[in-house]
Amino acid sequence: MTKTLFTVFLWALAGYALGSWFGPHIGWGTLVFGLLLMVLVSGRQVSQITRWAQDIERAPPASVGPWDDILSLIYRKLRNDRRVIESQENDMKRMLEAAEALPDGAVTLDGDMNLTWCNRSARQHLGLRSKTDIGHSIFNILRAPEFAAYARQGRWNEALQLHTQSSDGQPKTLLLQLVDYGRDRFLMVTRDITQIERLETTRKDFVANVSHELRTPLTVLTGFLETLQDMPPDSLSSEQRLRYVGLMQEQAARMEAIVSDLLTLSTLESSPLADAEPVDISALVQKALQQGRVLSRGQHVFVEHCDETLQIEGVDTELASAISNLITNAVRYTPKDGTITVSWYRDKDGSAVYSVQDTGIGIAAQDLPRLTERFYRADRGRSRATGGTGLGLAITKHVAMRHDAELRIQSRYGSGSTFSLVFPPKRIINTTEQA
Ligand code: ADP
Repeated sequence: MTKTLFTVFLWALAGYALGSWFGPHIGWGTLVFGLLLMVLVSGRQVSQITRWAQDIERAPPASVGPWDDILSLIYRKLRNDRRVIESQENDMKRMLEAAEALPDGAVTLDGDMNLTWCNRSARQHLGLRSKTDIGHSIFNILRAPEFAAYARQGRWNEALQLHTQSSDGQPKTLLLQLVDYGRDRFLMVTRDITQIERLETTRKDFVANVSHELRTPLTVLTGFLETLQDMPPDSLSSEQRLRYVGLMQEQAARMEAIVSDLLTLSTLESSPLADAEPVDISALVQKALQQGRVLSRGQHVFVEHCDETLQIEGVDTELASAISNLITNAVRYTPKDGTITVSWYRDKDGSAVYSVQDTGIGIAAQDLPRLTERFYRADRGRSRATGGTGLGLAITKHVAMRHDAELRIQSRYGSGSTFSLVFPPKRIINTTEQA
């Protein structure tokens, strides 16, 4: 303002000076000319400012006379605001990224329960597609009646367990919790608990199985004890007494075998693998074969092919139990005169293979995937009759896993089986290098 007044004053002064020299016409003319010039310059400046206002992101025009101070104030304010917005946008982006990365699903809903946003886990859990499902009612997306009933409660103190299916048709269990936040805004948190539920079922089944397995011999044992107790002392012949005691011992041994296998399994599951040492597998095979021959009582033909130079790194007590489990099973599930072939060799692909092949009863295809489950028996009667605990292959599989090995089972019902432990080349000790 002062600048403008000062310019007007200068033009008036110039007009007065020229007017006193050349006459009043010239003086007034100079003043009018000066004022016109000022109007023109000011018009040009306004149009410069208008052009800048159309693209306010740019720096303001360099020199616009009296507007300079105002423009620099506006520009500074704009720049600060922009910086604040940018930092808020960054914070927002980081928060969204964190929400996207959450292992739990998160879905936001408006007051009418329409989907407004969802993260990656929610998309996986509920099969949502952000592009098409945003704006749609959650009741059209999640069509389970239990969910509709839960969502309509209006107060959600507890989560809902929903049994659904994944995109590939597998059963899936989700835990859903609705929470209201703000006004007419809802948050739905989802968690996939399929695995946890499966583990819980396995645990319950396991406890039921253990109880069932122990109860049978225990019932027999108590039955005998009660009979013995109720009988007058001399009503039993010594032969009968011996038979009863023998039968009781059998049941006690059965319980002992189950408990011992359970302890082995629990140790395998809970303890880290002891330091690996060179293990002479062929020596362990010899020992296991001796036990197998005792169990067979001369009823089977044993064939053995062992590479005595082939050694691996591992824990010999564990490997011994896996090796003998497979031989014992071959004996128990192969009828009289069958052949059991035990091999330990280096395969073409470099792995070390321990295999036990029998000409026994074989296993039906539907039983094969479940054989290593605890207490799973394809032939229940035979397993029990031969003193099986139903835990041998579960133990063998654990030992294999702890040695980076794979338990492979090939079998056809009625025509024998081959059980192999395949150890990767990294487990093999290079004896030639050592020498
Ligand atoms: P078990 O103590 O009952 O033998 P395992 O875990 O060792 O328990 O084996 C599980 C089941 O696998 C057995 O009950 C049996 O039905 C089957 N099985 C194991 N080995 C053989 C085999 N060599 N031939 C046929 N069936 C077998």
